[in-house]
Amino acid sequence: MKSKDLLSHLSDLESKLSDFSFEELTTDEAATLRKTFLSFRAQVEAQVFGEKTPITLYKKTPAKETSNTEGMLVANVSHEIRTPLNGIIGFTDLLRESKLTKSQLTHVNAIQSASRTLLDIINELLEYSKLSAGLEQFESVHFNFSSVIRDVAYLCNTLILEKKVTLEVNINPAIPEVLIGDPSKLSQILLNLMGNAIKFVEQGEIHLRVAPLKTTEGEVLLEFEVADTGIGIPEEKLEHIFDSFKQAESDTFAKYGGSGLGLSIVKKIIENLNGTVEVSSTLGVGTTFTFTLPYGKGKQSPKPRKKNLKAPEQEAKAQLKGLRILVFEDNLLNQRLIEQRLKTWGCKPYITDNPHYGLNILEKSKFDLVLMDLRMPVMNGFEVTQKIRSHKSGAIRSIPIIALTADFTVRDKEQCAKTGINDYILKPYAPEELMQKLLDNKKGITTLNSKMSTSETQETKAEEQHSIMDLSDLLEDCGGELELLQELVRLYKQNALEFIGNVKLHLKNQDFEGLEFASHKIKSGLAMMQTYGLHKIAVKIHQCSKTDRDMAKLQTLYDRFLEEYPIVETAMEQELKKLKRNS
Ligand code: ADP
Repeated sequence: MKSKDLLSHLSDLESKLSDFSFEELTTDEAATLRKTFLSFRAQVEAQVFGEKTPITLYKKTPAKETSNTEGMLVANVSHEIRTPLNGIIGFTDLLRESKLTKSQLTHVNAIQSASRTLLDIINELLEYSKLSAGLEQFESVHFNFSSVIRDVAYLCNTLILEKKVTLEVNINPAIPEVLIGDPSKLSQILLNLMGNAIKFVEQGEIHLRVAPLKTTEGEVLLEFEVADTGIGIPEEKLEHIFDSFKQAESDTFAKYGGSGLGLSIVKKIIENLNGTVEVSSTLGVGTTFTFTLPYGKGKQSPKPRKKNLKAPEQEAKAQLKGLRILVFEDNLLNQRLIEQRLKTWGCKPYITDNPHYGLNILEKSKFDLVLMDLRMPVMNGFEVTQKIRSHKSGAIRSIPIIALTADFTVRDKEQCAKTGINDYILKPYAPEELMQKLLDNKKGITTLNSKMSTSETQETKAEEQHSIMDLSDLLEDCGGELELLQELVRLYKQNALEFIGNVKLHLKNQDFEGLEFASHKIKSGLAMMQTYGLHKIAVKIHQCSKTDRDMAKLQTLYDRFLEEYPIVETAMEQELKKLKRNS
């Protein structure tokens, strides 16, 4: 990534903003967008491109030569650029929901996408410089290993939806459930490597495997492998691939974007955590990154928290649809995770790590609920809550606030009550838990209980039927974590429905390659969940679309799948309920 590339991104964003027709917006909207951008440009120009601070940001300095002062300067500068850039993105998010003309919407989308690209680069620069300057802080806390993997896999699955790529996750069950170390750094490493794999594989597979390499009484050394069947890296480039600002080919940036910093960040983090990282790759075949990380063995929490959703998911989603939620969260992974989840439930999230922007946006737009990270730099969650609760507007003062926190002490609990926080969720939380908290706390919730009673009787009836499925082995594979199993079932259902839709379309178009790919893609998931009947049908569809291509036979197989799937789905849900009851 060269300075001219960053500059070209800035000019790109600027030209998109100048294309935008401010005149057609309300005066308020136009003024805010213009002000945000002007402040952003002023900061970039003054601090990055200004005379006094020549462009240390882009200097191709090897990490060890970067002095602390330089690193700190870059860290500060990047941080200051990030804040208004986040503001632009957030504001365009809100703008998109207002009444825009078609061409305005196109421009807003372009502004947003250019800003996101820039933000990604700035974030990497910030991270890199913080690591180089030794400013990065590493945690050592108890965390649930499967939850981290589940969240990363969830995000990656949302990224591959558009691609012909399958993701397989294989976690060795011997890994202790609770580890001691830095969960957010682990997810950052994994997201970086898996994000690259997704970027460089158009069609094929990505595997994440984790197994214990060495176990002692109090520690476990884990080996992670991220393997893909993507474009591969030329041999002569491999040895420099972890260097900063290095990309494999001169046209990589033009084709795939990126800053060339991701891998050097990954290496720095791993080495900081006393691990090692290696890469092997064959051009045109694929790439495998292998890394090790030591962790302390944690104590299993004595009682798992109850995370069941009181209402059926569809019903819950219908109640959450359109809910406008303001989220104060500074961790990037959590930001993406929460944004993705809230969006899939039909909510309208606005995420910010800047309390001032958040408070500002709360005054400008109507929100139904606030999710508040308690530990944030600059102003913590309690302080932000105090500002909200003492606001002059009654609507703002009374907005429900749910705190998000990784560790919740008795003092925190007291302070929550004192500042007027309505509820709290402990991180890491299961999706259903968040969903339930939103349902419990959103304003004006009245109908849930009455609606629930009818569906509950229906459910009990269904449960009386004989269950034909056994998920207990799989639960064991998930380290006994029911929520992970639930997530797998959710993904399983999503994939199966996607498969049903795709096959219908491919049959209509007599697209045998499409059929072949769709059935190949679903096979492993069907087998993993031990739904062997459906797996057999998928294998047959795969064979038939590859060899004899008999349309009548394919149609019959598809019809059989359609008949069998709902039975399997019901059995699976009953089995899940049974496991929940027994847990
Ligand atoms: P970038 O932000 O450019 O992706 P990285 O440091 O993450 O920076 O990666 C550096 C370069 O390594 C990439 O630009 C790409 O050329 C190559 N690379 C990384 N991961 C892969 C992969 N899984 N497959 C092929 N090439 C890869």
